Amino acid sequence: MLELTVEQISMGQTAVDKSAALRLLADKLVTDGLVAEGYLQGLQSRETQGSTFLGQGIAIPHGTPETRDQVFATGVRLLQFPNGVDWGDGQIVYLAIGIAAKTDEHLRLLQLLTRALGETDLGEALRQAQTPEALLGLLQGAPQELALDAQLISLGVSADDFEELVWRGARLLRKADCVSNGFAAVLQQVEALPLGDGLWWLHSEQTVKRPGLAFVTPDKPIRFLGKPLTGLFCLASLGEAHQALLERLCALLIEGRGSELGHATSSRAVLAVLGGELPEDWPSQQVTLANAHGLHARPAKTLAQLAKGFEGEIRVRIVDGDENAVSVKSLTKLLSLGARRGQVLEFIVEPGIAAQALPALIAAVQEGLGEEVDALLHETLRHETPTAAVTLAVVEIIAPGLVAPADGSVVQAIAAAPGIAVGPAHIQVPQAFDFPLRGESIAAEHQRLQLALFAVRQDLEGLIQRAEAKAIREIFITHQELLDDPGLTDEVSARLDHGDSAPAAWIGVIEAAARQQEQLHDALLAERAADLRDIGRRVLAQLCGVETVTEPEQPYILVMEEVGPSDVARLDPKRVAGILTARGGATAHSAIVARALGIPALVGAGDAVLLIKSGTLLLLDGQRGRLSVAPDAATLQRATHDHNTRTERLNAAATLRHEPALTRDGHAVEVFANIGDSASTAVAVEQGAEGIGLLRTELIFMAHTQAPDEATQEAEYRRVLDALHGRPLVVRTLDVGGDKPLPYWPIDKEENPFLGVRGIRLTLQRPQIMESQLRALLRAADNRPLRIMFPMVGTVEEWRQARDMTLRLLEEIPIADLQLGIMIEVPSAALLAPVLAREVDFFSVGTNDLTQYTLAIDRGHPTLSGQADGLHPAVLQLIDITVRAAHAHGKWVGVCGELAADPLAVPVLVGLGVDELSVASRSIGEVKACVRELNLSDAQHLAQRALTLGTAGEVRALVEAQTVDARLLETL
Ligand code: PEP
Ligand code: MG
Repeated sequence: MLELTVEQISMGQTAVDKSAALRLLADKLVTDGLVAEGYLQGLQSRETQGSTFLGQGIAIPHGTPETRDQVFATGVRLLQFPNGVDWGDGQIVYLAIGIAAKTDEHLRLLQLLTRALGETDLGEALRQAQTPEALLGLLQGAPQELALDAQLISLGVSADDFEELVWRGARLLRKADCVSNGFAAVLQQVEALPLGDGLWWLHSEQTVKRPGLAFVTPDKPIRFLGKPLTGLFCLASLGEAHQALLERLCALLIEGRGSELGHATSSRAVLAVLGGELPEDWPSQQVTLANAHGLHARPAKTLAQLAKGFEGEIRVRIVDGDENAVSVKSLTKLLSLGARRGQVLEFIVEPGIAAQALPALIAAVQEGLGEEVDALLHETLRHETPTAAVTLAVVEIIAPGLVAPADGSVVQAIAAAPGIAVGPAHIQVPQAFDFPLRGESIAAEHQRLQLALFAVRQDLEGLIQRAEAKAIREIFITHQELLDDPGLTDEVSARLDHGDSAPAAWIGVIEAAARQQEQLHDALLAERAADLRDIGRRVLAQLCGVETVTEPEQPYILVMEEVGPSDVARLDPKRVAGILTARGGATAHSAIVARALGIPALVGAGDAVLLIKSGTLLLLDGQRGRLSVAPDAATLQRATHDHNTRTERLNAAATLRHEPALTRDGHAVEVFANIGDSASTAVAVEQGAEGIGLLRTELIFMAHTQAPDEATQEAEYRRVLDALHGRPLVVRTLDVGGDKPLPYWPIDKEENPFLGVRGIRLTLQRPQIMESQLRALLRAADNRPLRIMFPMVGTVEEWRQARDMTLRLLEEIPIADLQLGIMIEVPSAALLAPVLAREVDFFSVGTNDLTQYTLAIDRGHPTLSGQADGLHPAVLQLIDITVRAAHAHGKWVGVCGELAADPLAVPVLVGLGVDELSVASRSIGEVKACVRELNLSDAQHLAQRALTLGTAGEVRALVEAQTVDARLLETL
């Protein structure tokens, strides 16, 4: 990231001419390890293309796209030339700012210099500057006013000691963007000054971006260095900005009124005493947000539209939040609040419209802003921990030292859209936009922006018209809303009025808003920064007249850093075989669009993939999340062959999907379906399911904004049984906790949630919830075949407690056809199978978790999860123990993890004696077809051999070889 610091500045340099100055600069960049030697050539050729003289005695030499690969790390170095260097055309440079960057980071630098460039006589001042600090001060522009407002005051904060209070003060300054991250550590080193009356003072200039004063008071009496501490001032000091405040404070202390501050109960009172910026005294009203997913794009849009109907200012803030109130008319600002369900919003409205606006806004929020909302359970929410506390880090450039994945290597990424794709890589790295910082004239820049916005609006309109999928349409409607967002356009307008050029103003505002969005503690909302950048780029391209890169002719794999939804939607699925991104998550809009268009996609593959050469052949498996780089002919042939035979087999299997799955020698294997909602039952039956082998009831719970009551659950379970028309239903009791929290169920934060309170451990701790679920299940059964199983059982006691609870309820609600079983997901349960088999009616092996716990690999791990292969012999040993134990007691065993649908695993599982395979509905036909290809005795032999092997790879190779042999024999 480009920032200006004193360490980057070398004062008093001399150079006879521009080329000597460039050499000096290149030497500095090389010595400091930012670039390779060849970067000098880039600096020189950039100057020949066009001078980097910026005005005001400043030049910003940087490399060309061709020399970007010479950059090891982003950075700047500043050389002061007090005697001046002729930069051509008589333009004299007193300060050369050399930039090492792979992308358009000079834009960021221009942004940093914006205020300084507005000053007159800056060149002369730069020439005369005597110290790096003075020079930096000049670059940062005119002296700034001390920030002191309600957001910088926090009264009665929970703090046990001085250090905690210091941390709180520093945090306020950080939030107000007065300081960088390290300020708290800086303050901890500074000697505190007692002011008397319990007040203390700390200040520092280090890491300060703009001057600001924070004031914090503790919620209970604290002593520091033997003296009382009732209030602490933390000053982010820059220049003389705090002088007036300090004088006022001294006068106050002399008058003996210091305790007024330490005992103040409102920030208004503190500001009144200190002379800070007083908040307007506007009418306000609070309301609790009840939307399940917080104030996300859709409800925020509804709220913004409602507010726009009132002529006057309307702001909103989160009570107890650290952020300032934002304009309700701005969608981006609303989203930047990151308001979650259960948080209290406060609307603050201009007096003239308050009487109409406040009731309308409060009612709209209470009614759910276009979404269905359930009442909040305040008792449980009060201690709710955030459900997804994810902060997305933005890496500015590809880290130095990174190399492209080697030919023949396999990269594990996040599977975002299924399917196999093969094609040459088409790498699209961010485009370079060149534009002046200052505009021609205020009117001209306003007009340029309007024209660009108009063109992009038209473009979006076209995309909305053409979009067949609703999901895609909605994304572009949101983009339109962003374009018209007064929160963005007002800020851009203000910058234009200050003389900025349209592109500089536009991208500056967009980038700031996107960064703010990324810092939200909500992964979903943070991912929306991609939407902002997407729309930002579109407008910038219009403003700069940059054409979007032309696609190659043949179907290709598009490789990008992060792909914007509109980029994907523009793609022609006939020409784009697949999408691969270095960053991003599976919930990003672009992934949604890719799935809707049926383009196989992998995301989050890591920055190294951006270094792959365009044209390199890529094989992308959107199902397994695997990328093969320049696969050898055999791999490619295998993939193509697999793909073709699979397609053929799928087509053939589909016609036989309702037939039972019998091996050649007549052994029957039941093939059931995994579902997560009642509506999918009919689809499963239609796909050939002989029953439901796993109903993930937590998904039904997750679909509700609060725990569904017994009647609601009964209705859901009844729907499943009805649609099964007498086929068996295997239901898993609630499996939440760990990585699957329910928003309305507060669970204490755990260091290792996968090893914490999840599955049966959790429900046994909340017997009421478990009993109500069991009752609903028994009531819904009506003597139809119901099998209930408990997830994550690791001990015999857990099974017995769950069983006893069910048997107790069974006395109350007797049913005729009930079996009770457990899932085998924890190695201890498999090892105890000989004991458990005496008591259970069945086992169902959850290979997803069993593999994770056996191999100690987090199933969601971004780089390791690819190795969590259920065909590992260690996992197979545990399945073998389970099946032997079950059969010895006449019990049946199913497998309901993903492994059951893996065509290479089916022969092994059948060979181990598994009686039932439960898979996603779309896999039923294929799994049945696999079973039909088998001979039981061959499969048994194969399974026994697999148990003697050492790795999953060896097992896979064995099965593949056997399958090929079998097919060869068939053809003879
Ligand atoms: C499993 O662990 O294999 C399983 C089926 O359960 P889930 O994937 O829902 O954890
Ligand atoms: Mg599981």
